[in-house]
Amino acid sequence: MGIKGRVHSLETFGTVDGPGIRFIVFTQGCPLRCKYCHNRDTWDSKGGKEYDVDELMSEIVKYKPFMISSGGGLTVSGGDPTLQPEFLKSLLMKAKDNDIHTAIDTSGFVDIDVIDPILDYTDLVLLDIKHINRDAFKDLTGVYNDKTLNLAKHLSDKKIPVWIRYVLVPGLTDKEDDIRNLCKFINTLDNIEKVDILPYHSMGKFKWEELGYDYPLKETPDASDDDVLKASKIFKEYGINIALK
Ligand code: SF4
Repeated sequence: MGIKGRVHSLETFGTVDGPGIRFIVFTQGCPLRCKYCHNRDTWDSKGGKEYDVDELMSEIVKYKPFMISSGGGLTVSGGDPTLQPEFLKSLLMKAKDNDIHTAIDTSGFVDIDVIDPILDYTDLVLLDIKHINRDAFKDLTGVYNDKTLNLAKHLSDKKIPVWIRYVLVPGLTDKEDDIRNLCKFINTLDNIEKVDILPYHSMGKFKWEELGYDYPLKETPDASDDDVLKASKIFKEYGINIALK
């Protein structure tokens, strides 16, 4: 039997969290409290279901033909997978033993000495930068962005490929100056393959309500095509490769 970890859910044919067709493990537990969280039910680290790494891997390898034919692999997302570092490392290690491409999706709120052993088995990091401004980041997520930005620099030093993900929220993350500052920061890194702009939508609201919580962004409109266009023009001005979702 392998190491056990708590998992929120599994997706067998994911196409947006990394290249190709991907098996996605959404782990349980998150240290952030994003106001727009679309997976509110992942926060509780005692929730979800316990999985054994070996059992999980025997399920994952069944999908290897689809991964190979599409250039896909395994993505471990959350919540935040780095909250269960031993489980994450073991899962990625076993994936690499099976020649499966590996990606992790993280907010980067993790100490370098905790994530470093995991990075030895990570081919791609999907790094969510929620806001470039320190105080605005704290207001949006409940924590400061120092660890996230520190991790971004560390990944650049280690030359590990990164896709940055940026949720565009009207009135919160769409200010021109903030996007320009984010672009300047991104251009100090030399491992960024692209930036995914994720337009904010309120589809996660029902989960908050189902769990009996008040949704903090009730008054915030979804990001429009125009909002996305404006933001993408700024990224392009800085020569940054963007992808729209
Ligand atoms: S990092 Fe992701 S899972 Fe965690 S609170 Fe933010 S949006 Fe939700």
